[in-house]
Amino acid sequence: MTILDRFRLDGKTAVVTGGNRGIGRAIAQGLAEAGADVVIANQNIESGEEAAVEIADDTGVETLAIETDVADENSVKAMVDAVVDEFGTFDVLVNNAGIVVHEAAENMTVDEWDKVVDINLRGTFLCSKYVGEEMRGSGGGSILSVSSISAFIANYPQRQVAYNASKGGIESFTRQLASEWAEHDIRVNTIAPGYIRTDNTDQADAVDPNIDEIWKGEMLMEEIAGPEDIAPAAVFLASDAARYMTGACVVIDGGYTVR
Ligand code: NDP
Repeated sequence: MTILDRFRLDGKTAVVTGGNRGIGRAIAQGLAEAGADVVIANQNIESGEEAAVEIADDTGVETLAIETDVADENSVKAMVDAVVDEFGTFDVLVNNAGIVVHEAAENMTVDEWDKVVDINLRGTFLCSKYVGEEMRGSGGGSILSVSSISAFIANYPQRQVAYNASKGGIESFTRQLASEWAEHDIRVNTIAPGYIRTDNTDQADAVDPNIDEIWKGEMLMEEIAGPEDIAPAAVFLASDAARYMTGACVVIDGGYTVR
């Protein structure tokens, strides 16, 4: 077996929440290129199906789109049942679905707070809980969650306390879950991206038209990256190449958090 063989995911089943666009779409493509059958679980079923068809055509793996609201327990359970019906089991879960609300702490409504925390943190718990149930029964797997450098830093100039709290929660959740599920051969890790150009970061243009320049000024690499810069680490963490990694966080931020 060569070193690159250890990154292969042939015959595995991977679910990517929010795999229809942005970072999740790039991760779904990457996992498929590595050989995994890929399930895209997101809210907008049309774009989920479109992504699933494109990825299948491009890579030859099996794909499936399932309309899922990660914050809704019944929706997550239905997604898990549908995947078990179609593929039998899960090997990889990518908790990627996430939203941000840019609002100053003093003006943030309880509804805004709940929405962000429900999708980002509760969604990560729900998917891990119900996918993990299947993984525990079938010999293990790899769970990876997309947190953020916002778990570790204060962002500027945008205001986003709920988002940062949710991402910090994902990091703590991951360390604890890794500890509890090591005995089930389930590895649990995170990827913490810095600034990646997607619909998520596009929202920040409304905060300050020069926001890219402000962000770049804080980085060593002075570049806003693309979703394709995150996907390779997801393939690594999903695969046996990372078999000795659990409870870890891979930071991909162009050196933002070094400063
Ligand atoms: P996008 O806004 O491009 O995509 C968000 C994704 O989340 C969509 O696929 C969306 O699906 C899905 N989603 C939102 N709410 C739900 C829900 N309730 N149930 C299921 N799916 C949902 O964002 P990014 O690609 O930028 O973000 C992906 C992840 O990366 C997020 O967790 C984000 O916090 C994180 N991240 C992003 C960074 C960046 O700079 N872009 C930096 C650090 C972390 P749908 O289209 O169906 O709504």
